[in-house]
Amino acid sequence: MRAHPKRHRMTIEHRPTLRLILGDQLNPLHSWFDAPQTDVVYVLMEVRSETDYVRHHAQKVFGIFAAMRHLAAQLKAQGHRVRYVAIDDPSNRQSITANLDALIAHYGAAAVQYQAPDEWRLDQALREWTAHCGVTVKAVDSEHFFTERDEAAQWFASKKQWLMENFYRQQRKKHHILMTPNGQPEGGQWNFDANNRKPWPGTPAVPTDTRPTHDHSTLWQCIQNAGVQTMGAPQAHAFRWPVNRSEALQQLDHFIGYALPHFGDYQDAMSKRSWHLFHSLLSFALNTKMIHPREVVQRTEQAWRAGHAPLHAAEGFIRQILGWREYVRGVYWARMPGYTEVNHLAHQRPLPEWFWTGHTRMACMAQAIGQSLEHAYAHHIQRLMVIGNFALLAGLDPQALHQWYLGIYIDAFEWVEAPNTLGMSQWADGGQLATKPYVSSAAYLQRMSDHCASCAYQPKLRVGPEACPFNALYWNFFKQHQHALQDNHRLGMVYHQLNKMPAHDLVQLQSQASSHLENLNTL
Ligand code: FAD
Repeated sequence: MRAHPKRHRMTIEHRPTLRLILGDQLNPLHSWFDAPQTDVVYVLMEVRSETDYVRHHAQKVFGIFAAMRHLAAQLKAQGHRVRYVAIDDPSNRQSITANLDALIAHYGAAAVQYQAPDEWRLDQALREWTAHCGVTVKAVDSEHFFTERDEAAQWFASKKQWLMENFYRQQRKKHHILMTPNGQPEGGQWNFDANNRKPWPGTPAVPTDTRPTHDHSTLWQCIQNAGVQTMGAPQAHAFRWPVNRSEALQQLDHFIGYALPHFGDYQDAMSKRSWHLFHSLLSFALNTKMIHPREVVQRTEQAWRAGHAPLHAAEGFIRQILGWREYVRGVYWARMPGYTEVNHLAHQRPLPEWFWTGHTRMACMAQAIGQSLEHAYAHHIQRLMVIGNFALLAGLDPQALHQWYLGIYIDAFEWVEAPNTLGMSQWADGGQLATKPYVSSAAYLQRMSDHCASCAYQPKLRVGPEACPFNALYWNFFKQHQHALQDNHRLGMVYHQLNKMPAHDLVQLQSQASSHLENLNTL
């Protein structure tokens, strides 16, 4: 990538434009690619600044690199000019902006274009670089989301609370999704969540995992040789996540055909017999933009209209994508910078060591963390009501937890991970995103999962060596944060119970909780 003297003498007409494609911008249908242009060079790069800003799961690192390599190959095959800077390329300066400087010199480029990044960190880096890079720079839309970055902020500007449900209804109307011809929600209701809270008894059978298997051992070796530090099981010889659009579409077909009909019923269920149940496993493909949320939503609505899936399943699934996904993005852009530092409840405790091994006697936590390390995946209710629930009850440092979530999941990109972790799960933003902290005692976990039956702890016990830690930690949490939480109208019942609890019981629970907190590593 050293400057080439001849290139400097190029006339302005021959100086190409570089178009940067980030690792989560792998949309082959972007209008950039409508027709090959000889004066455009597409640039993709594998850099240490992206592998190292947090410790990522091994599968996440090579999954993204493999998908980038696929897109590069596809673009080349379509006749586009592509410059791919691999992690072990000797000319790689290991940062996006440093590589751009070198490539501008190398190609004698007159201009750089990039698709607006979804992460504030990269958006900022590219803006700062633009100010002094010496060429014309233009940011274009990534053509991925239903909403603009600031659309949620505008929508909520005059509203007291940022209620996802209100935003979601507005999006349903705006995009005519699950609406009757006269503008009413299909089925006469906006939300069928009450139907979506069943435990899974073992039937219907969970669809088989038909995702293709890839051998990425060579790429993994190359990443290791470069010294990139990762966590989790690489499974490099048998990688199962989609790495291109056609594989992502196959996964969508499979989900619609076999899992969607039961998605609603078992959306909140947890089981040691299945790590994904009826979830779509589409988040990696969506967040790297291999598929568009609109096509996922449309396929889901069509399946319902064709009588293939019940309305509560289709609505529940669409709400996750059209509602939650767009909404958390809006919250992220409205609150950055600064959102990743929030810590409303001033929690400071370090994460227990078993967050990196899964070796805990709590069966639900062992399953949720164990499968996260194995597959770089846990489904929503495991992230929220098992791992996040425990972390909040135990007062774990929300920033350390945010780094952990950002690293471990194959789908973790800060715009979606941070509001979910810090806002929805840890209430670290003081309730902008969640109207009350999402916590529960063992009763909920027992109702929604089959973990408690084989756990070393007893869900019904609150004190003693066999008592499930979630119980004492639950009451201790509400007592500890009484000042901050007791006026929350959604917690009236909890504080009613706490206030009428005999003093002796409360003391016992608090002492049990202290013992758990002092011995987190051995739980
Ligand atoms: P499904 O259950 O099949 O849902 C379909 C799609 O809906 C998902 O692919 C996703 O795109 C979208 N979706 C569902 N819930 C949410 C949500 N709360 N916010 C945004 N989109 C949603 N999702 C990520 O994509 N990246 C993350 O880093 C991430 N971190 C999370 C951290 C915590 C603490 C929590 C509670 C949730 C997090 N989520 C994150 C949301 C959700 O857990 C995942 O999107 C989901 O588990 C991905 O699996 P799936 O594709 O099988 O999802």
